[in-house]
Amino acid sequence: MSDAPASARTEGSPEPEPPAAGTRRGRAGGALHWQILLGLLVGGIAGLLANALCPPGPDGTPHAGLTWAVNNVATPLGQIFMRLIFMVVLPLVFTALVLGVAGLGDVRQLGRVGLRTLIYTVAFSACSVAIGVTLANTVRPGLHLGAEQRRALNERYAGQATEKVAQAHQAKSLRDALLDVIPRNPVQEMVGALDGSSPGGGMLAVMFFALVFGVAMSLAPQRTAPLIPVLEAVYHTVLVVVGFAMRLAPLGVAGLMFALTAFLGFDILKMLGWYVLTVLCGLLVHFVVVYSVALRGVAGLNPLRFFRQTSEAIVTAFATSSSNATLPTALRVAEYNVGLRREIASFVLTVGSTANQNGTALYEGVTVLFLAQVFGVDLTLGQQVTVAVMSVLAGIGTAGVPGGSLPLVIMVLQSVGVPAEGIGIILGVDRLLDMCRTTVNVVGDIAIAACVNRST
Ligand code: ASP
Repeated sequence: MSDAPASARTEGSPEPEPPAAGTRRGRAGGALHWQILLGLLVGGIAGLLANALCPPGPDGTPHAGLTWAVNNVATPLGQIFMRLIFMVVLPLVFTALVLGVAGLGDVRQLGRVGLRTLIYTVAFSACSVAIGVTLANTVRPGLHLGAEQRRALNERYAGQATEKVAQAHQAKSLRDALLDVIPRNPVQEMVGALDGSSPGGGMLAVMFFALVFGVAMSLAPQRTAPLIPVLEAVYHTVLVVVGFAMRLAPLGVAGLMFALTAFLGFDILKMLGWYVLTVLCGLLVHFVVVYSVALRGVAGLNPLRFFRQTSEAIVTAFATSSSNATLPTALRVAEYNVGLRREIASFVLTVGSTANQNGTALYEGVTVLFLAQVFGVDLTLGQQVTVAVMSVLAGIGTAGVPGGSLPLVIMVLQSVGVPAEGIGIILGVDRLLDMCRTTVNVVGDIAIAACVNRST
C-alpha cells in the first residue's frame, strides 16, 4: 500500500488528509472494514433467525413484533447511517469534481483523462452486458418460471410495479435527456439529485456544472486561486462528517441487513432461483475475470492486492446498495490504499459514481431477456443488440442510489415490446441483487481510475 505520490499532486488538488475515523493508514482495509463486515454478518444472521422464528401469518401478513422491530429499530439505525452520508454527497461531488478538474491543470489534460474514462467506461460496460446477454441466452432463466409462479409474483408486487412504471413514463426523449445534462438552474438540480425529483438531468447536471466551474477556474488560475483553499476546506469538512457516519457504519449496516433478511421471502428466492443465479454468475465473472485482466494488463496492478486494498469500499457498497453513498469511502481507499493520484481519483470516481455502472448494465440486460422469456416474447438478434446497447447507455444514466436502475429497466423493456408491469416479478429479489451489482459498480469505478491513473 502506498500513499499518493507527493509529486503527483498539483495546485488545486486537495492536500493530503488522514483517512477518516476508523481506518488505519498503513494497512490495506483497516479495522473499519472488519467491523462493517461483522455488522453485515450479525445483522444478516439475526434477521434470518428472526425470519425463521417469527414467520408470517397464514394469510401472508408479516409477524407484528418483527415488523415493529424492523420499522422502529433496524430501519432507523440503517437510515441514520445512510442519511449522514447522503447529507454530504452533493457538497462532496461538487468540491471533489471542481478540485479534481482544476487540479488537472489544463483543459487538454482534462480532455485526455475524460476521453480515457469514457473509453474504459464503454469498454467495461460492453463486456459486462456481453457476459449477461450470453448467460441469459444460455441458461434461459425465464423458461424455469411457471405460469402459476408468475401470476403469484405479479399479484404480490402489482402495486409497487404500477408505481415504478408510472415513474418511468415520465422518461424523456434522448434529445431532452442530453439537453438536460446542461442545467438551467444547478441549485434546483442539486435539490432533487438524490431522489430523482430534479427538473433536468439531476446528478449528471450537477456534475456538468462542477466540470464547467472547474474548467473555468483552470482557465483563469490567478484570479480564481483564492477559491481553491475555500473548496478544499469544504471538501475536508465533508470528509470529517463522513468519518462520523463511518463510525456508525457497523451498526447502520447491521440494521440494513437485519431489515433485508428478516423479511427475505425464501419462497421468492426459490421461484426466481435461476434468474438470481444468472445475474450473480454474470457479476462474479465480470468482477473476477474482466477487472483482473484490466487491472493486470492496463493498470499494472496485482488484482488480489487491489481487491484487498479496496475491501472497505466493497463492503460499504454491498451494505448500502448505493454508489453515491460509497463515494467518500471509494475516494479514500483509491488514494490512500491503492495510491492513485488524488485529482484522477476525484474526477473518475465522482463521475463514475453516476455514469459508470457495469454491474447495473449487466443486470439490466439479463433482466430484460429474462422477462422476455417469461412472457414468451421472442427477441430477434437485432432486438437483443438493441437491449445490449440500451443497457450500456442505461448504465450511464442510472442514479447511484438504491433501486436507481428500475426506471431504466422499464424503459428498455418497453423499447423491445416486453410488458413493463413484468418488473413486479423481480421486485422481491431486487434489493439483494442491488447490493451485488452496486459492489461491481463501485469496484469498476476504482478499476477505471487505476487504468486512467496509469495511462495519463
Ligand atoms: N444501486 C445502484 C448503484 O448505486 C444502481 C442500481 O443498479 O440500481 O450503483
